[in-house]
Amino acid sequence: MFQTRLCILFIFSCLISLPAQKPKKFNSSEIYEAVQKLNVLGSVLYVAAHPDDENTRLISYMSNQVKARTAYLSLTRGDGGQNLIGPEIRELLGVIRTQELLAARRIDGGEQRFTRANDFGYSKHPDETLDIWNKDLVLADVVWAIRQFKPDVIINRFDHRTPGRTHGHHTASAMLSMEAFDLANDASQYPSQLQYAETWQPKRIFFNTSWWFYGSQEKFEEADKSNMLNFDIGVYYPSKGMSNNEVAALASSQHLCQGFGRLSQRGTQQEYIEYLKGEPLDNSKSVFAGIDTSWNRIEGGAAIGNILNMVEKNFNFKNPATHLPQLLEAYRMLQNVKNEHWKTVKSKELLIIIEACAGLYLEVSANSPHASPQSTVGLDIEVLNRSSASITLVSYKLSTLQNAISKKLDLSENQKLNFNEGITIPKNSHYTTPYWLNKKSTLGMYHVDNPEWIGKPETPRAVFVDFNLNIEGTPITITKPVVYRYSQPDKGELYRPFEVIPEVSASISDKVFIFENDQQKEIEVTVKAGSDAIEGYVQMAYPNDWNVYPQKQKIEIVNKGDVQKVVFTVIPPKNQSEGLISPMVNINGEYYTDELIEIDYNHIPYQTVLMPSVSKVVRLDIDKRGNNIGYIEGAGDVVPESLRQIGYNVTIIKPEQISAENLVNFDAVVIGIRAYNILDELKFKQKFLLEYVKEGGNMIVQYNTSRGIKADNIAPYKLDLSRDRVTDENASVTILQPNHPLLNFPNKITSQDFEGWVQERGLYFPNEWSEEFTPLLAMNDKGESSKEGSLLIAQYGKGNYIYTGLSFFREFPAGVSGAYRLFANLLSAGKENNKTLKTNNQRLINMHNQDQPQPKQKWDKMYTIVLIANALYIILFYFITAEFS
Ligand SMILES: [Zn+2]
Repeated sequence: MFQTRLCILFIFSCLISLPAQKPKKFNSSEIYEAVQKLNVLGSVLYVAAHPDDENTRLISYMSNQVKARTAYLSLTRGDGGQNLIGPEIRELLGVIRTQELLAARRIDGGEQRFTRANDFGYSKHPDETLDIWNKDLVLADVVWAIRQFKPDVIINRFDHRTPGRTHGHHTASAMLSMEAFDLANDASQYPSQLQYAETWQPKRIFFNTSWWFYGSQEKFEEADKSNMLNFDIGVYYPSKGMSNNEVAALASSQHLCQGFGRLSQRGTQQEYIEYLKGEPLDNSKSVFAGIDTSWNRIEGGAAIGNILNMVEKNFNFKNPATHLPQLLEAYRMLQNVKNEHWKTVKSKELLIIIEACAGLYLEVSANSPHASPQSTVGLDIEVLNRSSASITLVSYKLSTLQNAISKKLDLSENQKLNFNEGITIPKNSHYTTPYWLNKKSTLGMYHVDNPEWIGKPETPRAVFVDFNLNIEGTPITITKPVVYRYSQPDKGELYRPFEVIPEVSASISDKVFIFENDQQKEIEVTVKAGSDAIEGYVQMAYPNDWNVYPQKQKIEIVNKGDVQKVVFTVIPPKNQSEGLISPMVNINGEYYTDELIEIDYNHIPYQTVLMPSVSKVVRLDIDKRGNNIGYIEGAGDVVPESLRQIGYNVTIIKPEQISAENLVNFDAVVIGIRAYNILDELKFKQKFLLEYVKEGGNMIVQYNTSRGIKADNIAPYKLDLSRDRVTDENASVTILQPNHPLLNFPNKITSQDFEGWVQERGLYFPNEWSEEFTPLLAMNDKGESSKEGSLLIAQYGKGNYIYTGLSFFREFPAGVSGAYRLFANLLSAGKENNKTLKTNNQRLINMHNQDQPQPKQKWDKMYTIVLIANALYIILFYFITAEFS
């Protein structure tokens, strides 16, 4: 009966602990598992490149079955990917993925580490990866991780011997891991690290292989496995009521922004690791062969082990507090151990167990979720002993103060004590923003000033409290970060990290402003107060040839958290130009230029990120023909918004609205990215689209992936999509048909228009097409054959069909002028005969031009107005004449 209740309790606590914000409290089963783990002195470091690369089955197995201290070293934070749950990309996506990794580790029991490598996007080869990353710095960080974590064994997720077979970051992670294995113990390598860490030699290194790396299950079955170890990672944990693979699925399901929510699996399942180098394996078939992972490993450890092994053997699930005397004795002995590494690691583990056994509740909750430096916030401190152990609260020390505040109060069983303190955030306190974003990063690397922070998953908390206790005669200090605890009627009790934020922050409404002509635009700036009674002014920084007015706007905000919006008018120069604008808020002579970005999802703790508040302004030298664009949305992109920014009238066409009579209204119809992969309706609607082209329309199809095309034919002629892509955004572009209208009308496209592109040139280019298509551009990545499928045009009937894998969807949000100019040409295809038309008077001319299709409703409306006016005139005329006759 009792066992059942424990299991139910555990599952319940698992479920309720899922909102990641709530501080973890251990139940009996979890304390027991922690004691088991306390008695294992072995460690495993798992190495790969991205959030989601890690094999949670193996990490969970090493952590929960082998009971080893296990960590995942992800070289990057995954900034380069796509976000399936919200708008955050790049650095902000890296923040989410960092937190998702931490959420996964909270479930599988691992720890998390990083390097300074920046995930710059897809890379075909490790050579390119190591070129863009600073290889030496990333290698230094892997060495640093080994020297700090001191793993007995390293397990690589990827094979270092097969460059080019997978993402370059993947192979690079394994290559760097292999190199670091040989360097970490060499004091002449990266000697500056030795101020903070010691050299270390891991015993051996493995590769976490599987049938996938052999091409098929059959080939893997036949492979020589004498150099491999295997584990049943489907092992069942009665204390969790879950199998290891179920725990693993829960952990990897935390990668929600990558769409990793998945079903759990159970039952026996083999996982293989291949020995690569280090001390050879022996017959024990153990990953730790030849390594003593008991307390005997360290000098003075045997006696500690005797005590703690007895606690494990006789563990009292009903009242774990009965073990406090032994745990405290072990803790005291541990403080005399010479081995600093294990002393630190095991003291930390032991303190958590002691705290949990005593049912201690120590919490410091601020009365506000955030505060700015030099402001004061109220703290509610709760101290409670829920055991019969004799515990005294000697004092507590706020991290902002020099001295502890003496209390000398006995904590009687279950008698809660509450204290109120005011804490003033120091002037020089660091903000609670991700430390790796403090300085501008390069394409390949983050910059971190504080060498001790390198590799840490998060910025250390700026404000915390040390509780100095005396438990059964043993002085113990337990540190708690300040939290913000609150409740919401529809959600219950909630937690947020307490954050230190600037006094004021400012943001601009958009990241890019495109000026298609010399007309001014109004730009809204939102100023947010991080403390009460903000008074000052905001002004804009802008490029020399641009103009912004007014010069300054007054800011007056009464309450912390409130915002004030101000509008600036931005005037572009006459000619093509681009630059950056940035709001600067001046409060008492101090300038604040950062934007405060808040990230709020249920599966990760609330995040605030400070980033320079900067927007790009682009004055385009652009000419356009046609105004009404129909857009069929695919897998979410900002192309319609971008086209509106340059003055097009863009109408979103829902798949069910695709019909011959609807399409005829548009000067061009654009198909969004991957629309043919995700819109089932296009199977039936494609005929209307092609008919529209045949009758003189202009259709532009952006990239689709070759797999899972819903329509029978995406083009009127043979067009085969491939996986060809050009990932180097600076790859040189050859213009194959310099005189083709698409590259000349209305904008003359030159090599200049391919400068300043971001992330990549394009992807999923067709590699075969029928002779009706004309390829216009050629490009390729280093060492690859030339790819000519990035931009293809074919005449079909009276109209034009254009297919392009160029990454307009990435270039537009980055304000890349050449991409806008080229796209304007695609939209103008077939309108060369009206060369005298000018964009500004386009609409006027259209009214008189029979050839230009007109929006039907407009005509109808005008026609109706004229009719009604005529009718009114006649009626009026009738009345007037009747009156006077
Ligand atoms: Zn990956």
